[in-house]
Amino acid sequence: QAKSQTRGSCSFYSEDMKRGEMQRLALETHLRHALPRNELALHYQPQVHIASGRTVGVEALLRWSHPELGMVSPATFIPVAEESALILPIGQWILETACRQARSWQDDGLPPIRVSVNISGLQLKQPHFVDLMEQTLRRTGLGPEWLELELTETIMMENTEDNIRTLYQLKALGVHLSMDDFGTGYSSLSYLKRFPIDKLKIDRSFVRDLMTDPDDGAIAETIIAMAHGLGLEVIAEGVETADQLEFLQARHCDKCQGYFFSKPLPAAEIPAFLSRSLPGSWVVHL
Ligand code: C2E
Ligand code: MG
Ligand code: MG
Ligand code: MG
Repeated sequence: QAKSQTRGSCSFYSEDMKRGEMQRLALETHLRHALPRNELALHYQPQVHIASGRTVGVEALLRWSHPELGMVSPATFIPVAEESALILPIGQWILETACRQARSWQDDGLPPIRVSVNISGLQLKQPHFVDLMEQTLRRTGLGPEWLELELTETIMMENTEDNIRTLYQLKALGVHLSMDDFGTGYSSLSYLKRFPIDKLKIDRSFVRDLMTDPDDGAIAETIIAMAHGLGLEVIAEGVETADQLEFLQARHCDKCQGYFFSKPLPAAEIPAFLSRSLPGSWVVHL
């Protein structure tokens, strides 16, 4: 794009880029203090088993509230955390916090739910990631079957051979693995077969226009059929309407997550949500 510009407007673009870089650096400086200053929190978004209407899991989603900047979106700060490697200490804090929270809900006698944690590519690449995972489970006392790791299709397709080895080691620990944002990356079907994953997450971009764009409907339908054909579970993200839920239910999608059920909630609101969503209360009767 810059190539086609004249000399004069080129310098405009580089000023612009400089400003962008300064903003990124400022954000990184703030982010460096976020953990010690307790500015980070996890919210938890319910995942509902469609056939029973039960909330069977929650996805942990990171929230950053800065005293001056206010709430900063993960879409803005996660890339900065990844470029600066701050995602490593932050990611460890996320794992630890989510596991401890899930264990604490179990200790409080809540219906058992699995907690899903998003893992960044940099975390997965750490040579000792599996050891860290094992230590975290031991320290927090969470049974591995109650933890699910969400990895994007894009992450899995980088360093595939190394990843496959790591994923098998994680599976051996007993944790569940799910492929996030499925359909937006470039995973080849032959790799899909080789990854020891349990679940595909249909990306929100296909769910959004499910009812209006026949292509998206066909894609969602195909992902569900393919997942089941491969013996995998399938969950749709970003479900906002009863129509979308009905479409997915009719095609035997296993689980759903989205604003139709609930936004991501602070941990303290999860027990009330679970007692509200009694079996059957969400089920759409066709
Ligand atoms: P994701 O893992 O695909 O998470 C789903 C995103 O969709 C979340 O955005 C969630 O709040 C949003 N969402 C859920 N239901 C709906 C819906 O019905 N409608 C709409 N419009 N949006 C919905 P959020 O929390 O802003 O996170 C964005 C992304 O940031 C996540 O995408 C994930 O890639 C990343 N992220 C968030 N938390 C973490 C974390 O703890 N660690 C890492 N590594 N990445 C994270
Ligand atoms: Mg996710
Ligand atoms: Mg996703
Ligand atoms: Mg997504």
